[in-house]
Amino acid sequence: MTAKIINGKEISEKILNEIKIKVENLDIKPTLAVISVGNNSASEIYVRNKENRAKEVGFNSIVKKLPEETSKDELLSTIEKLNQNPDINGILLQLPLPKHLNEKDFLDKISPIKDVDGFNTYNAGKLFKGETPYAIPCTPKGILKIFEEEKIELEGKTITVIGRSNIVGKPLSALLTMKNATVILAHSKTKNLKELSKISDIVIAAVGKSGFLKEDMIKEGAIVIDVGINRDNDGKITGDVDFDTIVKKASFITPVPKGVGPLTIAMLISNTYELYKIQKGLE
Ligand code: NAD
Repeated sequence: MTAKIINGKEISEKILNEIKIKVENLDIKPTLAVISVGNNSASEIYVRNKENRAKEVGFNSIVKKLPEETSKDELLSTIEKLNQNPDINGILLQLPLPKHLNEKDFLDKISPIKDVDGFNTYNAGKLFKGETPYAIPCTPKGILKIFEEEKIELEGKTITVIGRSNIVGKPLSALLTMKNATVILAHSKTKNLKELSKISDIVIAAVGKSGFLKEDMIKEGAIVIDVGINRDNDGKITGDVDFDTIVKKASFITPVPKGVGPLTIAMLISNTYELYKIQKGLE
């Protein structure tokens, strides 16, 4: 079997175009504010990308670039000003923060109705209770969009999610459970990962280790989603999946790049638009 390679870029362009058309008719455009602290070169690329995408769909985009030595109080005050500013619809705190700042001290300070990443406790709690949060974390939401676009049914499927981070694995497992899938949430202490992934209809790798998921860890015809973004020494980006071998055994696979990554950004834009609508009473 040779897998269908899912074109995440194409799906994301479609979503962004739909939003762009809707935004053209708005008198007041949605505004996304991104807070970036310090000099992380990878973060700078991500922030620029988010800014460009927001502008492309007709949003206003504000980047608050704060120096590496920003204090806790200064960052809290920046967040609070954006919370209070009625012109700002979505606030994103770019992670990771410099070492002296703990993300836990800040994510919950973003107003839940402006929490475009869906990372704060209110929105995460709603998600885990199966209720509707203001925003769902972008990468898990993007992965669900891939299943929707490819007409992949989730009900009754056994799905192994490898990685239990708060931004990918945990919220994704909650969302898949809501879709009536049986979810195995595997992590670094999982003892029999290969046995679990091999019985799974869908395997989603969010580990952060290049080529981690090998061909002998999946069953014939499995659906494989690669969340990983790993940079090798030459700056080349690779996923968590051993693509060249798995592509010959899976039924669907997402590549890296142009797989899950573009969907994450599209969902950020989608979340900003959804929050705008809620704030303007358009929902
Ligand atoms: P993380 O880096 O916070 O944690 C990694 C997870 O992998 C942990 O839960 C850990 O338990 C698990 N793990 C580590 N070694 C393992 C092993 N041997 N067996 C099983 N599980 C193991 O996770 P993250 O922030 O979700 O990031 C994971 C990857 O996804 C990274 O490469 C990251 O860059 C990427 N990512 C991509 C996107 C995107 O838009 N495509 C978004 C977010 C993260």
